[in-house]
Amino acid sequence: MLLSSLFFPRTCPFCGRYISDRQIREEHIEWLCVDCWRHLPRTEQDYLRENSTETTLTDGIVSRQHAMHLERAWAYLHYEKGHPIQQVIHRMKYSDQPELGYWLARQAVLDTKHEEFFDGIDVIVPMPLHPKRMRERGYNQAEYIARGLSEITGIPMDTTHVMRIRNTPKQALQDGEGRRTNVAEAFAVSHPEQMYRKHILVVDDLITTGETVKSCLHAMKRFRGARFSVFALCKAR
Ligand SMILES: [Zn+2]
Repeated sequence: MLLSSLFFPRTCPFCGRYISDRQIREEHIEWLCVDCWRHLPRTEQDYLRENSTETTLTDGIVSRQHAMHLERAWAYLHYEKGHPIQQVIHRMKYSDQPELGYWLARQAVLDTKHEEFFDGIDVIVPMPLHPKRMRERGYNQAEYIARGLSEITGIPMDTTHVMRIRNTPKQALQDGEGRRTNVAEAFAVSHPEQMYRKHILVVDDLITTGETVKSCLHAMKRFRGARFSVFALCKAR
């Protein structure tokens, strides 16, 4: 943990304002200032079928036509480069504040008026990190998000059946074609029989092209008869 986070008060990732103890105590809004909380760029995709997250994920290699049954997908927030939302992802991934993801995921569930999104889901599976990346970072931010969802919905989280077997270069450095080849065969599953016919919610922090999630879903095809839904904290426009 960074020493600075122990000695300096918490600031809002959007506007940089200090977050007062009073706000945390009275409003229970711990990680953003109240203004930015109200104006979060929510997608409201939890209401929308055929929303942009869903179409991104069903486009191409892993589609309904390829026997991959994607039930539904929801990204809580819009992501744009240059927008302060970038700070949220950055703090979660690189500034040792994965709790921000945990908190936002809980808020997403408390926020939605469409709890049916979670109906029938048996297990929540965060996108795994490669063990080497995990050692470098010390945590998997997707796991924090998944834990937030799991605690509010009561749906168990599983981190033992899917793993990342190839440590691919950072997605940010790749163009579209590069990303596709980059993440192919990056995932593997274990004990697929234990996931037989389950409805699995795959969880990630940010969906851009969707190639990483699609590659993971592709590996999970070995879970025979399973159905899949996806939750992401953010989706790039
Ligand atoms: Zn703010």
